[in-house]
Amino acid sequence: MPGVRRLLANNPGPFTFKGTVSYIVGQGRVAIIDPGPLDEAHIAALIDAVRGETVTHIFVTHTHRDHSPAAARIKAATGAPTFGEGPHRPARPLNVGEAPRLDASNDTDFRPDRALADGEVVTGAGWTIEAVATPGHTANHMAFALKDTDLMFSGDHVMGWSTTIVAPPDGAMTDYMASLNKLMMRPEQFYLPGHGGTIREATRFVAGLTLHRKAREASILHRLAKGASDIATIVRAIYIGLDPRLTNAAGFSVLAHMEDLVARGEVATDGLPSISGVYRLAGS
Ligand SMILES: [Zn+2]
Repeated sequence: MPGVRRLLANNPGPFTFKGTVSYIVGQGRVAIIDPGPLDEAHIAALIDAVRGETVTHIFVTHTHRDHSPAAARIKAATGAPTFGEGPHRPARPLNVGEAPRLDASNDTDFRPDRALADGEVVTGAGWTIEAVATPGHTANHMAFALKDTDLMFSGDHVMGWSTTIVAPPDGAMTDYMASLNKLMMRPEQFYLPGHGGTIREATRFVAGLTLHRKAREASILHRLAKGASDIATIVRAIYIGLDPRLTNAAGFSVLAHMEDLVARGEVATDGLPSISGVYRLAGS
């Protein structure tokens, strides 16, 4: 894409595909989007990529350890301020006895120098970025639209290789679905994600993601129509051929659906929705 460079970090895995993609926007006086993990080789490669240029802005889509930790190092090396929605926080208050599940994936150290509000516009040398609040994957997730282009940096909200993990309490399905809907109303048609390649025909792609979640929700409801069930049983029933390393994440994804379904009055459980709870169709 004209005026945009991408740099892949060497952190491949079941949650990151080939690795995190950092982006450099502009020429001469540039912005970096998602400096990436605390990986010395990646940090050195980023600094090398902007040699002879001035980094004026560092943007962070969200506070997972594969996206934000290198921001402090790039800031120290360049003096550029950091921009993001805010520090890491769960999407809802923690229930009694509940730990932030993806604790190991969270970067709780990151504090943006400039906290961005939804719709806020930041202008650099030859580029303008609009912050698009897209909670769901995390409460503080932001996508960044490159104004006067057809481009959106979609972070982990919309990825080029897999659907996003939405895991309570850090993620929330109701927010995620609303954020997908928000993107469908926007004009940008090329998304540059935090993992995977460029997404074309983005409106159609995002509509497909919405249908995918609706289908999963329908599978859960179909399963519960046969009787009350717990999350482990539902995961075994509806995730066929799942990578065993993702079983735990799939369980939390089902929990995210349960929270949403309970909030909408379609499903009932005793007490608050929890990973070990038993669920039934409301009214049954
Ligand atoms: Zn993430």
